[in-house]
Amino acid sequence: MTARALAAHTTASLRALLDGGRPVVALVPVGSTEPHGPHLALDTDVVISKGACARAAARLEARGLAVVIAPAIAYGVTDCAEGFAGAVSVPEPVLAAYLAAVTRGLLATGLAHVCLVNNHLEPAHDRAVRAAAAEVVADRPGAASVACPLTRRWARTLSPEFKSGACHAGRYETSIVLATAPGRVDEHARAALPEVPISLSEQLSRGVGTFAAMGMDRAYAGAPAAASVEEGDALLDRLAEMVEGEVVEAMASLSPARSA
Ligand SMILES: [Zn+2]
Repeated sequence: MTARALAAHTTASLRALLDGGRPVVALVPVGSTEPHGPHLALDTDVVISKGACARAAARLEARGLAVVIAPAIAYGVTDCAEGFAGAVSVPEPVLAAYLAAVTRGLLATGLAHVCLVNNHLEPAHDRAVRAAAAEVVADRPGAASVACPLTRRWARTLSPEFKSGACHAGRYETSIVLATAPGRVDEHARAALPEVPISLSEQLSRGVGTFAAMGMDRAYAGAPAAASVEEGDALLDRLAEMVEGEVVEAMASLSPARSA
């Protein structure tokens, strides 16, 4: 049984899946619409989350769960990219409330668990995603989770560039997009890009809040020219393990009737 796009179900086929005896998990890809250098598309974070969800779905199905991949959340908090064409930001409380409502809606239709799979790493955006899940879990323990590589637990499994913080549209993200959606990479532009050794995490911790102020004058950091399909493929496996780990751990605290 392969995972299916939730949006491709009919109400009848979803009903049959929900009645099929296996707990049904929804993976919700979360990203942002924002600039990712001269070589990656605005939906890069959504593409990465979708790629991670697709691989994680296979792992979770192998554990006896049914999995649907829900429609993606493609707008986020992206104040860091302010001033660049294509940066579309929503306020943090708006995103948190919307994500909590979407999660509750998915649970109300009979799903056992909802995992918000986020790969847009701006701190205010991450806060909103975690706040949404926390709000839901306060009422329904185990019913929601967040999978995001910002936590040390998962970050340490990723590449040196990711860990350095120079990871916006650099080697890390470009490799993953090459592996999951190569049509989203402008190869001609990528090959000519010099490395930009700016750590976003360091800059943010010093209070520098925008790409422009950090000196990222083309909206990327890291080394996109060094990206490869092979590296992206390996990173997608790490992200899939992250999703699997968060879902399995969270579902362990569901009531027995739901997690059976
Ligand atoms: Zn990104």
